Amino acid sequence: EAAINRIAAGEVVERPASAAKELVENALDAGARRIEVAYADGGKTLLRVSDDGHGIRAEDLPLALSRHATSKIDGSDLLNIHSFGFRGEALASLGAVARLTVTSRHGTEDAAEISVRGGAPGPVRPAALRSGTRVELRDLFHATPARLKFLRSDRAETQALLDTLRRLAMAAPQVGFVVRDLSGGGDGRVVLRADPEAGEGAEALLGRLSRLIGKEFAENAVPILAEREGHHLSGFAALPTYSRGAAVAQYLFVNGRPVRDKLLTGALRAGYSDLLSRDRYPAAALFVSCDPMRVDVNVHPAKAEVRFRDPGLVRGLIVSGLRHCLAEAGH
Ligand code: ADP
Ligand code: MG
Repeated sequence: EAAINRIAAGEVVERPASAAKELVENALDAGARRIEVAYADGGKTLLRVSDDGHGIRAEDLPLALSRHATSKIDGSDLLNIHSFGFRGEALASLGAVARLTVTSRHGTEDAAEISVRGGAPGPVRPAALRSGTRVELRDLFHATPARLKFLRSDRAETQALLDTLRRLAMAAPQVGFVVRDLSGGGDGRVVLRADPEAGEGAEALLGRLSRLIGKEFAENAVPILAEREGHHLSGFAALPTYSRGAAVAQYLFVNGRPVRDKLLTGALRAGYSDLLSRDRYPAAALFVSCDPMRVDVNVHPAKAEVRFRDPGLVRGLIVSGLRHCLAEAGH
């Protein structure tokens, strides 16, 4: 069982950034309004995610750590997925490759915690926590030196971690995020702060994009809105006058999840087409949403690839949606 967990773990957890993605998605699934992330040494020695979500009952803590235990679907339809988590693998996997402690408080019940050492869960113990859940991961891959070797420098892991957190924060503008680097000891240094955005929909999103990509992006961005056969496109695309750092300002989401996908990136480029020149790149945060039955987000647990039932339709939606909205804005 411990060996199986370690093998499965490699699929879900490749590096601190993928661990953070799983933990933050769990917090969002739990209805968190505020999420705090703390890390040290690029997340290699410490990664901690605290939320104010609905928490886990003390008696459910051992179950939350076991493989294929999920409270989110009944297993009857793996394609019809509305929440982030659906595999029940993340916590089990993390427990297999790091020292893991989960502390949680459900409603007005007493808080409790459980720790996993060497893949074996210990007893549930009383703990102190005002509300929500705190998951702490220490010494990722300490028991698997071969894996540890594949981690990059602290600096590179920190960058990947922050990139992942930024994307998740864009997908949830009403949720507040604070990220601290504890490497120096003490209370650490706040490296990312995004307060919950007021308002809703596009207004909240633009506020969050201004915060995370920059004011210059937000001031140059036009709203994108299009629909095709039940597939919806929304978000913001900056006019090609915006170029600073724009090469990396491409954020794509499917049904609220950050994704990296060739089809979507290609469509983004095609939508800008002749507006692009040598030093002009598309800069956009685009959200595609459709019936979960029409997209498979389950291609690979750690990779953010997606597979649409009708890729041609989605490409067309993005290309024509972008062209139309950019043209309307006078470009
Ligand atoms: P999944 O998210 O696929 O269900 P996980 O291994 O990520 O699987 O989590 C297992 C279970 O633990 C979840 O189904 C949920 O019930 C519980 N859980 C994990 N993290 C949190 C959290 N931050 N708040 C509340 N419950 C959580
Ligand atoms: Mg999960």
